[in-house]
Amino acid sequence: MGGICCRFILVGGLVFGSACSAEKRGGENDWPEERAAMVALLREYGIRDERVLEAMGRVKRHRFIPEPYRSRRTAYDDRPCPIGFGQTISQPFIVAYMTEAMQIRPGEKVLEIGTGSGYQAAVLAELGARVFSIEIIPELAEHARRVLAAEGYDVQVLTGDGYKGWPEHAPFDVILVTCAPTDIPEALVMQLDEGGRMIVPVGERLQRLVILRKEGGKIRRKEDLPVRFVPMVKGGEKNEMP
Ligand code: SAH
Repeated sequence: MGGICCRFILVGGLVFGSACSAEKRGGENDWPEERAAMVALLREYGIRDERVLEAMGRVKRHRFIPEPYRSRRTAYDDRPCPIGFGQTISQPFIVAYMTEAMQIRPGEKVLEIGTGSGYQAAVLAELGARVFSIEIIPELAEHARRVLAAEGYDVQVLTGDGYKGWPEHAPFDVILVTCAPTDIPEALVMQLDEGGRMIVPVGERLQRLVILRKEGGKIRRKEDLPVRFVPMVKGGEKNEMP
């Protein structure tokens, strides 16, 4: 496992330059073989939950990557990929790892913070979750809404500040945060249901995934992998639906 750990440290949601836009391919290609190879790699890296592996085999990751950044390699190599506005989709391993850790059952209500491209939200929807997702950059929220709808995923996307959560739809069974706050936002913990789970990368340059569980009204906290995500920025503007 030692060698693999080094990979994790560098790759959570690392901001890349535009280097991986070079290999763009023309024409419509669904890249099923590349997706199958990605899933085989995830299995090799220790992802065991067949439902997660199947979901990631089904979601067309390349469709969520804005065109200037899209290629066979940026979509299906195990790396983070830029999506514009200085943001990235996490590498597939981190998406799989966080999703697996949350043990999502069909019908559960899941809140994602940091919609970005919409890819993680699509994986959650493939698992049968009812997905709510908040994105602070309006253009990304709009991009995600468009791709999610085109790919047939029923996900509610709110343009706004994830620090506030989404009280109208609370409580949630799972809260999955894909940008890094320096401290766990209290409003999100409040919006977890009894038996609920939350996964969040916490810290500035050195971050760790933290997993919370709410049991008997108490919060159990576990420190997990070292990771690197883009920061969760402070917003303050009003949360709004389109
Ligand atoms: N889950 C995404 C990738 C997330 S990148 C995917 O699958 O593509 C992190 C995202 O968090 C960025 O889009 C960033 O704009 C967003 N973000 C940062 N701070 C936020 C905040 N306070 N509230 C909501 N979203 C935020």
